[in-house]
Amino acid sequence: MLSFSNFNTKHFKRPRTARAIACLQLSLSLLLPSSIVQAQQSADAQQQLSTDWQHLVVRKGDNLSTLFSRAGLSAQDVLKISNATSETRTFVRMIPGETLSLLVADKQIQEIKYWISASTYIHIIKPSQGEGFEVTQRKQTSVIDQQTASSLEIEAARVIKEHRELIDINDFSAVERTIIEVTQADKIDSVFSKAGLSAKDVANIISTSTDKDYFKQMQNGDNFNFLIVDNQLLQLEYSNSDSKVAFTRDANQLDLYTSSAFSLTASETAKKSTDNAIQSLINSASTTADNWIYYNVQAGDNLSTIFIRAGLSHTDVHYVDKATAQDSIFQRMQIGQKLAFLIRAGELIKVKYIINPLKSVLITRLDKTAYQYQKMERSPVAKQVVVAGQIKNSLYIDALNAGLSSNLTMNFAKVFSWDVDFSQDLQAGDQFQVVYEQLTLDGSKIKDGNILAAQFKTGGQNLIGIFYRDSQGGVGFYTPDGRSMRKAFLRMPVEFARISSKFNPRRRHPISNKIRAHKGVDYAAKRGTPIMASGNGKIIFRGRKNGYGNTVVIQHGSQINTLYAHMSRFNKDFKVGSRVQQGQVIGYVGSTGAATGSHLHYEFRVNGIHKNPLTVKLKKATSLPSSELAQFKQVAAKVLSKLNLNSGQTIASKDPNANI
Ligand SMILES: [Zn+2]
Repeated sequence: MLSFSNFNTKHFKRPRTARAIACLQLSLSLLLPSSIVQAQQSADAQQQLSTDWQHLVVRKGDNLSTLFSRAGLSAQDVLKISNATSETRTFVRMIPGETLSLLVADKQIQEIKYWISASTYIHIIKPSQGEGFEVTQRKQTSVIDQQTASSLEIEAARVIKEHRELIDINDFSAVERTIIEVTQADKIDSVFSKAGLSAKDVANIISTSTDKDYFKQMQNGDNFNFLIVDNQLLQLEYSNSDSKVAFTRDANQLDLYTSSAFSLTASETAKKSTDNAIQSLINSASTTADNWIYYNVQAGDNLSTIFIRAGLSHTDVHYVDKATAQDSIFQRMQIGQKLAFLIRAGELIKVKYIINPLKSVLITRLDKTAYQYQKMERSPVAKQVVVAGQIKNSLYIDALNAGLSSNLTMNFAKVFSWDVDFSQDLQAGDQFQVVYEQLTLDGSKIKDGNILAAQFKTGGQNLIGIFYRDSQGGVGFYTPDGRSMRKAFLRMPVEFARISSKFNPRRRHPISNKIRAHKGVDYAAKRGTPIMASGNGKIIFRGRKNGYGNTVVIQHGSQINTLYAHMSRFNKDFKVGSRVQQGQVIGYVGSTGAATGSHLHYEFRVNGIHKNPLTVKLKKATSLPSSELAQFKQVAAKVLSKLNLNSGQTIASKDPNANI
């Protein structure tokens, strides 16, 4: 016996993804069935008024006001009808292609028929006695005459063609089912309304099952399983304790559904169908009826929860899990990843696990119990992007304005961190330019790649760094003539900080108010800003040090050490004796010890003597070995042609007529 307690009864949010485009084959019988037109033949008193009726087709963007104004009615009328229908919310969601029939006499609205499906309308009528309007839902009968009907058909066809498109499920990247379990008070309307569907949707489904009336005896625990995409109901499965009925929207027509019912015993039999039957489902060629249904991985999901949400069984989970266990394919599912299923007649045929835009796994069923999988990988296309700008405020802001991400801006600053102190050396008018790689897939950006070249013009200096991967796989930035951009030390151990106090042998101390040498540089920065080791070395002190507060001292080679004070906390990855690389975070800015505010106090000692970190002579850059130079020059020439901040020079030196 198939148990429905497995169904997830949560009410999932409906996806509202991009518009689907599909070719529309319009069936006018949907909108204005022949029965409406034929009703005219059995004339009664009401129908003789038919000439006074106005028929308006709802267009995209229409609401009661726009429709009424088209009919020559006043804002007062809009208000009256809005009030009358505020409870039923009749006009809250009008759909292009619907028809509003209005009967007006003595400039007063007498009656409105709002056609929400082929055979159903909302009837709004002035009662014979009393105020206001009565709102009811009715079936059939019409006052639309043959001539009006055919002109409406043409208008409706146009409107529908323009504004209402069939959803193609394949155009959607994420589709969830909405599952609602019936509770005591539920009627079909309330269930549909919980699913965010309209009375029109109810009417469409009811009219598909007129002979059966499946929803007559709804009971606690009955299950509605909706597939709704962009407000369109594509499929509904309704099941109770002993039967199940599925309504599927026609592939080519809006509002038209077909139903198929089966008892659960029959479906169980189908589940236990012979290997041959499953095999033929697996082997059958894909048809338009094949839909991939996509599910987003949500918090707390695992393979089972998603399979159950897709209406699959624990047996399905078991075999798929077994087939993929070797590579632990589903061990690290993450929120936002997607799982897609191809199911034919209740049998799982294929599963697609989309790990990211580049990586996915396709699992294909071979027979009743066996699955095989293949990992699929796509390579992004790298394109080169050039961004240039000028300093007006700060590198960070101006680079962002020029279109560089904050990550690329940081990396840009790092290329020049041995030459430029971006907190100090910047001047308005300085120019920067970056050539970087952008990785794209099908024309859309996946992520930024490496900086290939960076240029910074400041104070008469023209600094250029070129990215190069040498024959050993080592990477780095080099000047155009092949010297490394890396010097022995970073100019500043915190990014984008402000110097609040310079190296000064005769400074009045802000706390003691005595003349006391300031043996380092203070960088004011927000508490928690990462502090980097300014060069490769070994941590020789890490702890509290009187007025210095939390302090790290790094020994670099035999002669130099650097000191970092007032830290709020240390990087726990390191201890005394740890080796650190240049740029690695050793701690975070704070105000421990004798500090007036949150800042880094940074000292640079050569052979035990304090030096000014801002002016100390830095070790000379190393050059590429001659074995690499030829290759490097080729790379450099290519990328340098993209940097055009040199154009000034080119014009000055290369004009053949310059001597005239
Ligand atoms: Zn200081």
